Amino acid sequence: MGTFGPAPGGSTPQGATARGWPPSADCQASGGAEIPLESPAALRYPKDTMTELTLRRPDDWHLHLRDGAMLKAVLPETARHFARAIVMPNLVPPVVTGDEARAYRDRILAALPEGMAFEPLMTLYLTETTDPADVAAAHASGLVKAVKLYPAGATTNSQSGVRDLSKVVPVLEKMADIGLPLCVHGEVTAADVDIFDREAVFIDSVLDPLRRQLPGLRVVMEHVTTAEGVAYARSGGPDLGATITTHHLVINRNHILAGGIRPHYYCLPVAKRESHRLALRAAATSGDTCFFLGTDSAPHLDALKEHACGCAGCFTATNTLSILAHVFEEEQALDRLEAFTSLNGPAFYGLPPNTTRVRLVRQSAPLPQPGKIATSLGPVTVFDPGFALYWKVEP
Ligand SMILES: [Zn+2]
Repeated sequence: MGTFGPAPGGSTPQGATARGWPPSADCQASGGAEIPLESPAALRYPKDTMTELTLRRPDDWHLHLRDGAMLKAVLPETARHFARAIVMPNLVPPVVTGDEARAYRDRILAALPEGMAFEPLMTLYLTETTDPADVAAAHASGLVKAVKLYPAGATTNSQSGVRDLSKVVPVLEKMADIGLPLCVHGEVTAADVDIFDREAVFIDSVLDPLRRQLPGLRVVMEHVTTAEGVAYARSGGPDLGATITTHHLVINRNHILAGGIRPHYYCLPVAKRESHRLALRAAATSGDTCFFLGTDSAPHLDALKEHACGCAGCFTATNTLSILAHVFEEEQALDRLEAFTSLNGPAFYGLPPNTTRVRLVRQSAPLPQPGKIATSLGPVTVFDPGFALYWKVEP
């Protein structure tokens, strides 16, 4: 343990199967192949089994709300369906101290439209100079529900992240003492580790040694994207959880790269081979208590996504529940959707599940495409799953 540098080994995932589909007319016009709209699984399952579903109101255990005009534009998209969310702290500058988290929480609540209820669950951004006493005080006051570890350089606004884990051991020991979870962006950032191997290498070279050194530390593996991540989460006991995003249940790396580059599918951790997507679907729909929804919904302006050096992130807050119902229906696991969206997360964080409910009703005609969200800075494209959605959320 110690750095996020190179390590031997890493994964060599096997058994990829290509699955293409046309997410945008643009790609087709520029030479993308003609491929069927719905995924093979969608064609396989019986569609007449269940047409209505009532769930305890979901929570999102990994969300990016940003700040300012973007916050104002995207917050209603989450608050419409979700009661609470773990709000990620990677603003510029990051949310490092308890005071900064309190101020950010106030800005979120001020941006909430009248008549909407939403509880932001705040996180602190772990740096090599984070003060353990400040973390403990922010937790004791009820304000902060987790601390986020970003290996420096791993994703959007992670420049202030941790380079040398030994420097944050005092904070982690304090967190283990008080039961405050560490949310981990589980990727090494060394340039000589292939981007598709970064999660598996992180587990072997950083996460597992860290958990052995601090056995009382509660850890959430954020946005797992690999079969290795799923297997490690399953084997970790009650102090280890894992969030799974909506988009990683839907896309594999072919969807980003085959037939034209699709910047709106580019996210970090990047989507992996089809075999990994299938492992994630099996995990999410298993009902296993260690897996819960963290959308990692991450808005970026279209101008910055459709760019020579496009930003990483998929904006899924708007249609996540409809997509998840579709995925769980394909897997014949609609009876386990509530565990994934509304029960397993609160149980891990030691919070009660929500008492209000949402209703999903299967429509006979496809729902309208959500398209884009308007912000005063420009449009943000909503994630397009590439198949028609039928499950309408009635809050
Ligand atoms: Zn994230």
